[in-house]
Amino acid sequence: MNSLSASFATGTIVTGKPGSTSEPARYVGRFAPSPTGPLHFGSLVAAVASYLQAKANSGKWLLRIEDIDPPREQPGATQSILEALERYGFEWDGDVIYQSRSHALHVAALEDLLDRRLAYPCGCSRRDLSDQPRSPLGVIYPGTCRNGCDANETAIRLLTDDDPITYEDALQGTQTQRLESESGDFVIRRRDGLIAYQLAVVVDDEVQQITEVVRGIDIMDSTARQIRLQRLLGYRTPRYMHIPVITHANGDKLSKLTGAPAVPLDDAGGTLAAALRALQQDPPGNLATDPLQEIWAWAVENWRPEAMYGLAAITSESS
Ligand code: GLU
Repeated sequence: MNSLSASFATGTIVTGKPGSTSEPARYVGRFAPSPTGPLHFGSLVAAVASYLQAKANSGKWLLRIEDIDPPREQPGATQSILEALERYGFEWDGDVIYQSRSHALHVAALEDLLDRRLAYPCGCSRRDLSDQPRSPLGVIYPGTCRNGCDANETAIRLLTDDDPITYEDALQGTQTQRLESESGDFVIRRRDGLIAYQLAVVVDDEVQQITEVVRGIDIMDSTARQIRLQRLLGYRTPRYMHIPVITHANGDKLSKLTGAPAVPLDDAGGTLAAALRALQQDPPGNLATDPLQEIWAWAVENWRPEAMYGLAAITSESS
């Protein structure tokens, strides 16, 4: 067994608060969809990967609906995501968690950062920043409001520095970012008053004691910002595994914006087998017609995430 499979197979992960003695934590994973549309094949594949990684490690798997951005949400999306996950035979531990219910915790973390001058109000508009250099993370914020701003409507930004943030992704290898020069100070509360994804996800992963985050590689760019937040807030950093993104034949990511349809509810077995193939799992040809329980049993038993090592994108069979 190579070191990659050995670390996948242990079932316990050593974590610890900075400065505290490390203690083994049981595996706790999660799937955290935003209710911006129904579950499509790309999000199903991410759900399957995080589920199998949790089950293969005898871990817990939590389901968190990230419903903190009402302008982007679609009526009925939460129900339709839950219905699809049930039809596909996912079994989550405990009740469904709604991120909006942690609002007070998000605000407490924000205030803590403001009190410690690790975050500050910023009145710059998108237009004010339109001439700034960009990186793959977006506009690099030049720090205009670091020393104060008198605008009425402000976002809140987190202070960054240029020390490299490095972590080992279980599939994509060593990742490093220097936040100050690659993103600049980033938004943790938006101008419209909503808590930004980066802060909410970090607070919730800590509160729910998540030990391993398995999600699409399209979110990998955010991970260093999330680690910066974890460090400043004294949280543990989970292990990360970013799986390849599923694309249409033209290379576009499957998403609501690119017209990805909802997963079919009447062919869960066939679609689950296709998700396993997308995850490079090589299921036997007749598995698709077996009862769902047997498909899941095969998938857990034969789960080999290392088959995706270094892969960034996979074209969907159906496009
Ligand atoms: N809510 C995010 C999404 O649906 C995922 C967040 C995460 O897994 O960290 O894209």
